[in-house]
Amino acid sequence: MDFAIPAHLAPTLEQVDRLLADRIIPAAREVMEQGWVGAAALLEELRGAVKAAGLWGPQIPKELGGLGLGLVDHGLVSERLGRSPLGHYCFGAQAPDAGNLEILHRWGTPAQQARWLEPLARGELRSCFSMTEPDSPGSNPVILTCTAVKDGDDYVLDGVKWFTSSADGAAFAIVMAVTDPTAAPHGRASMIIVPTDTPGFELIRNIPIMGDPGAGWASHAEIRYRACRVPRTNLLGAEGAGFLIAQERLGPGRIHHCMRWVGICERVFDLMCARAASRKIDADKTLASRQIIQAWVAEARAEIDAARMLVLRAAWTIEHQGFHAARDQVSIIKFYVSDVMMRLIDRAIQVHGALGITSDTLLAHYYVHERGARIYDGPDEVHKMVVSRRILERYGAKR
Ligand SMILES: Cc1cc2nc3c(=O)[nH]c(=O)nc-3n(C[C@H](O)[C@H](O)[C@H](O)COP(=O)(O)OP(=O)(O)OC[C@H]3O[C@@H](n4cnc5c(N)ncnc54)[C@H](O)[C@@H]3O)c2cc1C
Repeated sequence: MDFAIPAHLAPTLEQVDRLLADRIIPAAREVMEQGWVGAAALLEELRGAVKAAGLWGPQIPKELGGLGLGLVDHGLVSERLGRSPLGHYCFGAQAPDAGNLEILHRWGTPAQQARWLEPLARGELRSCFSMTEPDSPGSNPVILTCTAVKDGDDYVLDGVKWFTSSADGAAFAIVMAVTDPTAAPHGRASMIIVPTDTPGFELIRNIPIMGDPGAGWASHAEIRYRACRVPRTNLLGAEGAGFLIAQERLGPGRIHHCMRWVGICERVFDLMCARAASRKIDADKTLASRQIIQAWVAEARAEIDAARMLVLRAAWTIEHQGFHAARDQVSIIKFYVSDVMMRLIDRAIQVHGALGITSDTLLAHYYVHERGARIYDGPDEVHKMVVSRRILERYGAKR
C-alpha cells in the first residue's frame, strides 16, 4: 500500500483546501447561529461555489455529475471536508444522502433513478434512511416491528421509526420494513421508497440531541408511518433483500464517516494546540509549558496518525480485495476512530477551560453532535465483539 497522495488527486485536494479556507470554514459560525434552515440561502450559495469550482459530489459517479472518486481518493477528500461541520453538506457528500445515492444507483429501477436518484445527485432534493425504531434494538435490527403489507398494487406501511436523520425537509425516505414475518430473520425486511408527502407519513418531532432539536438536514426525526400507502414499484431491490442492501450501504459509509472524523480530529487538534500555545497561566508561561498538556498533544498526534492510517488501509483493502477481506478492518476503524475523536474533543475542551463548553468555539458543537459516532453504524461494543470473536475462534474459543 502506497501512502503518498496520488498525483492525479493532488490538484483536486489543493482546490478543496482553498475553497474550504476561503468560503466554507469562515461561514460555519453564521450557520451555527442561524441554524440549518435559517442559513439555507447561504448554504445554497456555498454549494453553488463548490459546483462552479467543479468539485461537486466527490463520491458521486461521473455519469451522475460527480467526480466519481474511489474509496481511498474520496477518503482523502472527506478528511479535508471534515474540518468544517459544513464541509460534506456543501460538497454534496453528506450522510444519509451519500448512502442512499449509492443504493439507488446500484439497485434502483430506471424509473426510480429518474425520479429520485438524479435530482438527489444534483443536490435538488434531500433524502433520509428510516430503519431504527424506538422499541426495538437498533444494534440487532432483525427484530423490526414496522411492517409493509401488500394490498393490490400497493404496500401499506405501519410503524414508528426514530433517529431518521435529516427527515425534516427531505423529499423521500428509504424505509426498512418487514414484508415477510415468516422468512428467516435476514430475509424478513425490504427497503421501500416513501415520498414524505405521502398521506400517513407523519413527522412527529425532531428529537432534541442533548437539548438541541436541530432543523432541516441537521436533525434526527421520529416518524410514524400510519397506513402509509405507496405503489409496489417503490420497492428497492428484491423483496426480502433489505439487510443485504443495508450491509452494502454501511461498508463504504463507515470509511466516509471515519475519514470525516479524522478531519474533525485535525481541526480539534489545531484548536487545542493553538489554545495551549497562547493561554498564559502565569506572567510568562503558557499552558504549552506544562507536561500534562504536552503529553496530551503528543498522544493525540499519535492517535490521529494511527486512526488515519487504519482508515486508509481499510479503504485500500476494500478497493483491492473487496469488502469481505476488509470486514475486521472496517469494524476496527469504526470503534477506534470514534473513540480517538471523542477523547480528543474532551481533552481540547479541558485545555480551553470554561471557554471549551461555550458555543464560542466549535468544540461544544462537536461534543454534542459527534457523540453519536460511538452509537450509530453499529455501536462500538458490537464491532469489538465481532472482531474479537473471529480472533478468539482462531485460538479455539467457542461462541
Ligand atoms: C446521531 C445518530 C444518527 C442516526 N441516524 C440514523 C438514521 O439516519 N437512520 C436510522 O435508521 N438510524 C439512525 N440512527 C440509529 C442508530 O443506527 C442506532 O442508534 C444504533 O443502531 C443503536 O441502536 P439503539 O439506539 O437501538 O441501541 P440498542 O440496540 O438498544 O443498544 C444500546 C447499547 O447497548 C450496547 N450493546 C448493544 N448490543 C451489544 C452487544 N451485542 N454486546 C455488548 N453491548 C451491546 C451498546 O453499548 C449500545 O450502544 C442514528 C443514531 C444516532 C445516534
